[in-house]
Amino acid sequence: MHIGIVGCGQLSRMLALAGKPMGIRFSFVADEGEDSVCVDGLGKVVRWKTGDDIAALYQALGQPDRITVEKEQVDLSLVEDLQKHCPVHPNPKAFAAAQHRHREKQLLDSLNIPTSPYIYGQPDPEQLALPVVVKSCRDGYDGKNQWVLKTQDDLEAFRSEPRGDELIVEKFVPFEREVSQVSVRREDGSILHYPLAENRHDKGILRESIVPAPNTSSQLEASAQAYIRRIMEALDYVGVMAMECFVVEDGLLINELAPRVHNSGHWSQSGSATCQFENHIRAVADLPLGSTEVFGVAGMINLIGIDKPDLKVLTATSKLHWYEKSVRPGRKLGHINVIADHYDALKQSMLELNASVY
Ligand code: AMP
Repeated sequence: MHIGIVGCGQLSRMLALAGKPMGIRFSFVADEGEDSVCVDGLGKVVRWKTGDDIAALYQALGQPDRITVEKEQVDLSLVEDLQKHCPVHPNPKAFAAAQHRHREKQLLDSLNIPTSPYIYGQPDPEQLALPVVVKSCRDGYDGKNQWVLKTQDDLEAFRSEPRGDELIVEKFVPFEREVSQVSVRREDGSILHYPLAENRHDKGILRESIVPAPNTSSQLEASAQAYIRRIMEALDYVGVMAMECFVVEDGLLINELAPRVHNSGHWSQSGSATCQFENHIRAVADLPLGSTEVFGVAGMINLIGIDKPDLKVLTATSKLHWYEKSVRPGRKLGHINVIADHYDALKQSMLELNASVY
């Protein structure tokens, strides 16, 4: 089995590292100018730009049996054309929805899945009262290309700057906390779920996850699983998907979908019988899914914009995953996974690790 992955970042790296022990081979498609340091030594890297011949790209990759993708902002014509040569999972319909915030909202609306109230277009207090979060429909991730407007002055300042992008305007949600559901679906329709993760963000970027999300009712868990199942089935989805949610008084509001392995699932490398990366590879290769059973509790600390920690900070229950990227402020450079028997011990370990690396 040979899987071609579109993208050369840390998610591609961890997918390949999870697939190699099963004897699966990998190759990678890099955009022109994309840094491929994360996948150095893990397979052939082929450079591609819009307009290049896709048959030649497929040959250069070494004719993979399957193609998958590590990012939602993928060129749709690339994945659609690759489908003429071998199966592409997840299917391009999922990228079309997830890479455009309005299309994503329309998908959720059509499936009767709750999201934050929104309008498509410019902020207009007659339609949606302040505070609001304005988001560009494209190229928004980690809080990029979004603006919180709280006051009339914010609104006027926002409107005074000319903007070409398509926008959606969401009601600012005073959520209790943020959680995410990571699940995996195989071609035969079987689905396995990881437990909900509780996520803490800093400046729009994920800083930490804790799993299972503490104090979660079985009702909340069941509705997360029912929603993601509905989405995966509607998209005829194969692979791992993540659904980011706000917890509000009466349940979940879905904020965003990621048609790929997700940062809030990295804990599974230490905390689950089968990690999200291996399960994505298994689904893409049409192999039986691995158990998502969780032993104890698990946490993940993102290493953002800092030098590689001294390996001596590691403890008996923590592991470092370093991506080999160059250090830049705000850049995700690695993460530490921690496991424990109970939340108090987990929180203490995470506090100590945070203090040693930041
Ligand atoms: P996003 O890029 O949509 O994932 O947003 C990044 C982060 O901004 C989220 O994880 C939230 O912490 C925050 N955020 C996004 N949308 C809203 C909203 N409508 N109300 C409140 N906070 C939001």
